Parts: sequence; C-alpha cells; structure tokens
Amino acid sequence: MRIVLLGPPGAGKGTQARRLADRYGLAVIGTGDIFRDHVARGTPLGREAKAYMDRGEYVPDRIAVEMVLARLDQPDAREGFILDGFPRTVPQAQALERALTEAGRPLDAVLNFKISDEMAVKRLTSRLVCPNCKRVYNLSFKPPRVEGTCDVCGHELQLRNDDDEATILRRLDVYRTQTEPLVLYFWERGLLRDIDAEAPEEVVADRTIEAISDLSDLEA
Ligand code: ADP
Ligand code: AMP
Repeated sequence: MRIVLLGPPGAGKGTQARRLADRYGLAVIGTGDIFRDHVARGTPLGREAKAYMDRGEYVPDRIAVEMVLARLDQPDAREGFILDGFPRTVPQAQALERALTEAGRPLDAVLNFKISDEMAVKRLTSRLVCPNCKRVYNLSFKPPRVEGTCDVCGHELQLRNDDDEATILRRLDVYRTQTEPLVLYFWERGLLRDIDAEAPEEVVADRTIEAISDLSDLEA
C-alpha cells in the first residue's frame, strides 16, 4: 500500500500517518521530520535546509527529491509507505511518479486533508511534538498525560520553531501557491479523495480508512 497525505500545515497529516502506520504496518516517511533530524544533527543537508524551514519556505526540490527517493529504496518502504509532506510541488510529484512507475510500484491513494486557515493557526500554535518518536500532541485537543512529556517514549516535548503565527501564515501561503496544484494533478490520475479534516481525530481517522478502502483493495 502506497499512500500520499496532502493538506496544509496543521491539517493532521502526521497524526493520521501515525495511526495508519500502526494499523497497516506501513513505514511513515515524514519529510519535515527527516529534515528536522538533519538540522538537529547539524549535517550538511540540515545546514542547507534550516534557513528555508525557519522562513516557512520549501527546501529546494533537488534536495527533497533526492532524500525521498533514497528513503523509498530502504527495505521497510518496499513493503508499503505513507508519505507525509511529500510531494509538495509539481516537480516533486513528477519525480515521484517517474521513480515509482519505473519500479513497478505506483501510488494507490492520495488523501487531501482539508481545514480552514483559522483552524490551522489554532492547531499549530498549540502543537507539541516529540523530537524522539515524532508523536504529535496538542495543548487544547490532545494534551499528553504528563505535562511536557511524551506518553509513549517519555522524551521531553517541544514546540516547533516554525509554529509561531507569522511563520504559520507564510507556510499557508506557500502551500496555496506551490502545493495546491497537486490536488488537480492527482485528481486527474484518479488517485485523490478529499477528507474534511476539521472533525475530531477519531472521526478523521474513520474517514481516512473509508477513503483508502474506496481507492484500493485494502480492508477497512
Ligand atoms: P500536519 O502534519 O498536517 O501539520 P499534525 O498531525 O502535526 O498536522 O497536527 C497539527 C496539530 O493539530 C497537532 O497539535 C495535533 O495534535 C492536532 N490535531 C491533529 N488532528 C486533529 C483533529 N482532528 N482535531 C484536533 N486537533 C488535531
Ligand atoms: P512539515 O513537518 O511537513 O510541516 O515540514 C516542515 C518544513 O520542512 C517545511 O515548511 C519545509 O521547509 C520543509 N519540507 C518538508 N517537506 C518538504 C518537501 N517535500 N519539499 C520542500 N520542503 C519540505
């Protein structure tokens, strides 16, 4: 099963990716998480990506594509994957399509999570993330059991430094201009389903599973 999650920042892609991975045993490839790991480790890639990320802009396609194609070749991803945050531009989508077609393992489903800008700002300004296991929490909607601590791995939770209001607005703007054209791109290929993602997490999870079973032979 090969799935892409589309949608603006704050739509719940990472949250639903984790749930799908647990349910179906798929690898999650979250490009934002991979870039943040590189930044934290101070690798050359991380040093190159950081300035773009801090401004709420996209890392150049060449870098994102190379990183994802290498990741897709790893053994766990060969069994199936959920792409969270990639592709984000038409050239990225074309590069992905070319690589997967050549490998004889095309995408099965693209889920387009939809929320308003107001809801995105509300969710992101109260988001907490675990830098260790990548789980996502929310001060209003999904607080951790112990304040400031990941329920699963016990690591200290963090605010993301691109989750301030000005950078969120910039990211929403970049999404509209650079990523929204992918909705049509995947719709034309018969792969897309829209998901109203403003509902509570469990409701969105049910809608997601329904859309996947509609597009593929995977059981709900
Ligand atoms: P994305 O990966 O699309 O940027 P996240 O999965 O990180 O989004 O979710 C953004 C924030 O919103 C997180 O704090 C998360 O806990 C919260 N969240 C995710 N889905 C929902 C939902 N359905 N209802 C309320 N809050 C949600
Ligand atoms: P995310 O964790 O998905 O919100 O991504 C955080 C940041 O990482 C984005 O604002 C971009 O700067 C960068 N990023 C993540 N995925 C991509 C991608 N596919 N292409 C370019 N930049 C990306």
